[in-house]
Amino acid sequence: MIYREYGNTGEKVSILGFGGMRFENPSDIAGSAEILLHALNSGINYFDTAPGYCGDKSEDIFGTAVKEMKKLDKNFYISTKSSQPDGSELRRQLENSLKRLNVDQIDFYNCWYVLTMEDWEGRKKGGAVEAILQAEKEGLIKYPVFSTHLPGSDIRKVIEENYFKGVTLGYSAINFPFREEGILAAGENNMGVVVMNPLGGGTITQNPDSFDFIRVRQSQNILDGALHFLMNNKNISVMLTGFRNKNDIDTAVATVDSFKPYTNVEVNKIKKHIENDFNNLCTTCMYCNVCPVDIPVWKFVETANGLYCDADGSLNDRLKYHWGTNISGLDSCTECRLCEDACTQHLPILERFEELKVAIGDQ
Ligand code: SF4
Ligand code: SF4
Repeated sequence: MIYREYGNTGEKVSILGFGGMRFENPSDIAGSAEILLHALNSGINYFDTAPGYCGDKSEDIFGTAVKEMKKLDKNFYISTKSSQPDGSELRRQLENSLKRLNVDQIDFYNCWYVLTMEDWEGRKKGGAVEAILQAEKEGLIKYPVFSTHLPGSDIRKVIEENYFKGVTLGYSAINFPFREEGILAAGENNMGVVVMNPLGGGTITQNPDSFDFIRVRQSQNILDGALHFLMNNKNISVMLTGFRNKNDIDTAVATVDSFKPYTNVEVNKIKKHIENDFNNLCTTCMYCNVCPVDIPVWKFVETANGLYCDADGSLNDRLKYHWGTNISGLDSCTECRLCEDACTQHLPILERFEELKVAIGDQ
């Protein structure tokens, strides 16, 4: 296992993190807790959960595992979250998480799921940020952090307000242009970076032919290629992977153990391929952010990627939960095609809109 510094906290976290949102059989609390123990014994020390994950069973699974994990002579970190904008609601949720997780202190507590800058302002106004900082003073939280779906330039703004020690964000070979700026800002400000969705929601591994370019060496499989690409970024502290079972852990650990750093030329070749030659798919570069009626074009076109390659989850859920919008957001489109002129991938955006409407109507 490879361990990296989490920002300037002095904590050494495993590059592979345990994402507690994909248990195969979450109703089996004890059996699922054993998967965490297996991860800890395999060298993983960063464990991420949230209220609501796996039908709200995930924190209970973690709490059951934590009782056993404390008996082992091993260091580990627990991360959980609250998306409550209201300070007292957040505090109530935090106290509940502490009980469920069987800990006196949460190592990394995320101001969760910051979707837009208005949302971020709401977290401050509603008292959520203050409640997190107060809990840190009381020792209930060790490190306040935030998790976000914001574009990189907005992540930089939140980072530079200096409330947090780290950021949890979605990042993969597909969407790196969208968040790169946020990762750079975290590095410049000595903050930890936890990457969610390193496989692009399964899109990369489910479409090995389209993503074959990500393997720079013959010996790599597609999973190696996707994770090794991220591991080359020194600013990334942890890659969170949603483990279903012990076998998933063994596979991911083997991938991490086989990592050999790429040259700059190899990394840039992959980046250039994604930026210039990645036909058909939206890379969420956001160059289409030119809409005169303020339609967030990239949110719809990225969702429409699911029509061109296999991806997890419904398109509607992607729009709703990942992007915080819905298909009626396209109603104001005047078909001026300014977004198409700006698209780096030269995608037929209006066609994608129509395909998406039909597909969502059919789901
Ligand atoms: S075609 Fe529609 S989405 Fe694109 S810029 Fe014009 S109004 Fe906006
Ligand atoms: S639609 Fe085109 S310009 Fe917009 S984010 Fe996707 S690839 Fe980039």
